[in-house]
Amino acid sequence: MTDFPEIAAANPAFFVERVLSVHHWTDRLFSFTMTRPASFRFRSGEFVMIGLPSEPGGPRPVMRAYSIASPHFAEELEFFSIKVPDGPLTSRLQRIQPGDPILMGRKPTGTLVLDALTPGKRLFLFSTGTGLAPFLSVARDPDAYERYEKVVVVHGVRQVSELAYRDLWTREIFEDELVGEQARRQLVYYPTVTREPFERQGRIPDLMASGKMFADLGLPATGFDPAVDRAMMCGSMAMIKDVAKALEGYGLTEGSNADPGDYVLERAFVG
Ligand SMILES: Cc1cc2nc3c(=O)[nH]c(=O)nc-3n(C[C@H](O)[C@H](O)[C@H](O)COP(=O)(O)OP(=O)(O)OC[C@H]3O[C@@H](n4cnc5c(N)ncnc54)[C@H](O)[C@@H]3O)c2cc1C
Repeated sequence: MTDFPEIAAANPAFFVERVLSVHHWTDRLFSFTMTRPASFRFRSGEFVMIGLPSEPGGPRPVMRAYSIASPHFAEELEFFSIKVPDGPLTSRLQRIQPGDPILMGRKPTGTLVLDALTPGKRLFLFSTGTGLAPFLSVARDPDAYERYEKVVVVHGVRQVSELAYRDLWTREIFEDELVGEQARRQLVYYPTVTREPFERQGRIPDLMASGKMFADLGLPATGFDPAVDRAMMCGSMAMIKDVAKALEGYGLTEGSNADPGDYVLERAFVG
């Protein structure tokens, strides 16, 4: 039996929470939920430090940044994670089971929040791989649908099996008590796969450059319009760099918490 008070005493800087459920999507991806500390507040789209307690007398715990995948009002906290075979944290984290302890930092932060964007009509959420995580939070928050007429979730992966949460975007969210009705009218899910046949193929920046994305979404061929389009990006450096360049080309400018703008980004991982 894990001794939570002992772990808490050894790690006073962190919350000690308990794993509730684990879901393995592929041998590279998994999700888990855990208990939420009563005093923990965050804004949909923010990230927090997560880690596992070290062995007694061992080194300090390894902590890593993780986007919270649940919306700000959720009872449980959800995360969507990579499994890096020799990764200091995820080589261990991928083996967690319900009941196990998890350390969590006390201060959430981040720029992928609705408050960092100026008002507009369409909100594009561009992600690759686990970069989808913050948008699982933002697009399950009714605030997104109140602020924007359309919310477009773009998810780029290498293989079809990596389109985690596809059932959520294509079915479950429409049944959601809180956002179901808004999602039915306003949410568009736009998945794309780069290394296998799929109904849509290609890198996100290429789909923009060729005009295919605009045609698919029924948008003007002239592309993004700084008067109405807002965006968030999360995932690989290459996607973020190329999409940011494209958005700048259309006249959109980067925002932050202190100075809201047309788009915001989070560099979650290299490669
Ligand atoms: C702001 C922020 C938010 C993040 N949110 C998430 C999240 O929600 N889910 C998540 O899985 N990771 C997220 N990460 C990455 C995370 O912090 C860790 O890097 C990851 O969990 C691997 O940890 P590790 O100790 O096993 O390996 P590390 O030593 O941290 O990473 C080893 C290598 O694996 C690759 N890598 C790391 N993370 C990923 C990833 N997510 N996808 C593809 N390749 C990766 C990189 O090339 C890295 O150099 C986020 C990072 C930042 C900065």
